[in-house]
Amino acid sequence: MPLDHLVLGLQRALDRLVRRLRLGAAPVPDRRRLLIVQIDGLSKAVLEEAIARGRAPFLARLVRQRGYRMAPMNVGLPTSTPAFQMAAMYGVRPDIPGFHYHDKRRRTDIYFPRGGDAAHVEATQAAGRIGIVRDGGTYGCVFTGGAASNLLTFARLKRPSGAGLLRTISMVFVLAWVLLKGSIVSVIELTRALLRAAADPFSVSTMGWKWLAIKIVISVWLRELFTLAAAHDLYAGVSRIYVNYLDYDVAAHAWGPRHRRALRALRRVDASVHRLWRVLRRVPEYRYDLYVLSDHGQATCRSYRRITGGPPLEEALFDEFFDPSSEPRAAAVEGKGQRIASGLKAYRSHRAPGLFQRFVNYLERDFPRLLGETPESRERAGIRVISAGPNAFVYFLDSPEPLTLEDIEKRFPALATAVSAAPGIGIVLIRSASGPLCFWRGRRYALDELRAGPFANRADVERVAEGIRDLMAMRSAGDLVIYGTAAEGGDVSFISEIGAHAGPSPDEMQTFIIYPRGATVPSPITHPTQLYPYFMRYQEAG
Ligand SMILES: [Zn+2]
Repeated sequence: MPLDHLVLGLQRALDRLVRRLRLGAAPVPDRRRLLIVQIDGLSKAVLEEAIARGRAPFLARLVRQRGYRMAPMNVGLPTSTPAFQMAAMYGVRPDIPGFHYHDKRRRTDIYFPRGGDAAHVEATQAAGRIGIVRDGGTYGCVFTGGAASNLLTFARLKRPSGAGLLRTISMVFVLAWVLLKGSIVSVIELTRALLRAAADPFSVSTMGWKWLAIKIVISVWLRELFTLAAAHDLYAGVSRIYVNYLDYDVAAHAWGPRHRRALRALRRVDASVHRLWRVLRRVPEYRYDLYVLSDHGQATCRSYRRITGGPPLEEALFDEFFDPSSEPRAAAVEGKGQRIASGLKAYRSHRAPGLFQRFVNYLERDFPRLLGETPESRERAGIRVISAGPNAFVYFLDSPEPLTLEDIEKRFPALATAVSAAPGIGIVLIRSASGPLCFWRGRRYALDELRAGPFANRADVERVAEGIRDLMAMRSAGDLVIYGTAAEGGDVSFISEIGAHAGPSPDEMQTFIIYPRGATVPSPITHPTQLYPYFMRYQEAG
């Protein structure tokens, strides 16, 4: 398409100009530099299928013709971006049990898209450690990793930093370009959609329009911004850069990890990695090493509410187990007046069968938010329940410390057994005097018995057991941790999404790292903490 050629031509001209600006004194090409590209949410299995079917042509070329290697990586539990990045960036086994959880001691929820929560977690859990991106650039990540420049990183959303006037000027220049190109591509996408709608008014659903909006924000604007910001840093010789592309993850949540729309998003990310590669080739004197990796994969899930036909899990648990006597709709809404940043969850699909149902869903789902409650949580009678995805947490608030099976059974005899046998529920994890236990379909399994239960046929059952051990060692993990993984009939998510992650299914846990020939990455990688000492070597002299 001619406009694309024009845009690409303009972009090449910009690349040259930014390079000429050179942002102050050119750095000495003394050591190897680090570029990490994260493709959020992409499992090894989906990447391999995409490569085989021509959906990731640049990554295919990298591995087949450019001498790059691909190694498997097991990311541990929970399979969630903040847990992965805390481990990889700082080398710590974090206390981050999910994307949304409760801190009993501080009496507050942590919800990553909310301003300040990521910064707090990074400040407290990475305390005193040097991050792998120290003094570098981080784009699209949950944490800064110690970067000096971190446009749109959750942890610094409110106060982006950056040093030097020239740097600022050239960033403004880059932003102006993103503005121009983003506008052009947005208009193209919108025009295409309007033409499609004019040709066939019934072809474009509400979901289609919603998706168009998501695509324009995430896949045009953010991806352009991240690519240009990273390209800008590459020309400047910034020693360490970590860029995370969210497109595929968001599309896979909305449509499923193997849906054509998710694979198209992956194709666009592949093109962006290719652009960064071309920039790398223009600055060979900086000796950049490129790594492409993923933080977790996704599992295709069914919705909990569709299976039970009832209220969401955070309500159902009260109705069925904790507080069956009280009026189901008389939920005490705990209004803290927290303003909820419109997080990624807000982009997720709300699939509902009919107009009336949609209206009811709207009232049920969004009314508590208007009153200041964080999404997908309920608190009643000293018990707080949070649904974070295919995982949910139950907290008994009268004790600031995590409770064991023995403590819980005193209050609610045989609770874990009963919950694990309920429809739409997979496994239930709980601490006990003899270590973490896993309940599945009404039966109890110690971690060395998982192969006899929910994880039969898993070659990596040891990794699953280790993940569960790590997860239940986190003090912020719920007193009960409930997963939809391994539910009767397939995996289940407790929020509205088709692709989900946080759980231990193979596609969620098994990702990859693509690395240059000659690099000796740890092998096997059984936890992202192993990446920390490896990437820290880029901070040693020589
Ligand atoms: Zn995600």
